[in-house]
Amino acid sequence: MPVRFINNIEHHRRRTVMALAFVLLFLFLSILLLSMAFIIIQTGHDCIGADCIVCVIIKSMKNILEQIGRAISVALLPGTLLLVFLVFMFFHSSVILPLTLLELSVKLNN
Ligand SMILES: [Zn+2]
Repeated sequence: MPVRFINNIEHHRRRTVMALAFVLLFLFLSILLLSMAFIIIQTGHDCIGADCIVCVIIKSMKNILEQIGRAISVALLPGTLLLVFLVFMFFHSSVILPLTLLELSVKLNN
């Protein structure tokens, strides 16, 4: 197979994956924003009591939004811990890493 044909297939594949990713992102954000808009709009509805369907929908949407928030926080936790560790290493590298002989001799020469 010619190399140009393989490159075209790879380029088409990447564009398809990017398009699918954008569609999924659009759907995710749409669900998120529409859920929040529904909750905001319907918070002052005329409630009929225990069998109110609007209250049931609002409650389920709140649960979905809370689950999304928890999933995002769980996904961000390892990155946050790594960032804190790297900042700590950057500012306190001499505490964690032992000094090299060269660093010790430089300090002794002062
Ligand atoms: Zn209600």
